[in-house]
Amino acid sequence: MKCPSCGSPDSKLKVIDSRPADSKSIRRRRECQACHRRFTTYEIIESVPLSVIKKDGSLEIFDPNKIIAGVRRACYKRPVSEEQISAMVSEIETELINTLRDSVSSSEIGNLVMEKLRDIDEVSYVRFASVYREFKDAETFMNELRGLKEKK
Ligand SMILES: [Zn+2]
Repeated sequence: MKCPSCGSPDSKLKVIDSRPADSKSIRRRRECQACHRRFTTYEIIESVPLSVIKKDGSLEIFDPNKIIAGVRRACYKRPVSEEQISAMVSEIETELINTLRDSVSSSEIGNLVMEKLRDIDEVSYVRFASVYREFKDAETFMNELRGLKEKK
């Protein structure tokens, strides 16, 4: 990008304000350090939506809010803050996006959540795992608990 007024290169253009215009673009105010003209640009965020492959094989767009809702249920009345939950989920989102794949299975996401939740709060972890892994009986549940103890 060059200054539309004096043609100075990008390095002379200082971003003075940057905010989302809508969900697909960012509005940036720039000031040219050479001629001091200010101008606005709209940049389209190029994002490839990440798809989630569900257990039944259907696809849905990755939605961090769904993960947050699931984790929040597992953490009900536990000493886990909203900040911890959203930090955890955005970490997971970043990890998934960094793999540069366009789809991920719901079980991979579940495993990532369990991995992180285990370090934050064991009770929440077991709750999440019991919903997520759909423990069919007490034995599977006990196995999970034993596995938890061994990992300590
Ligand atoms: Zn300029």
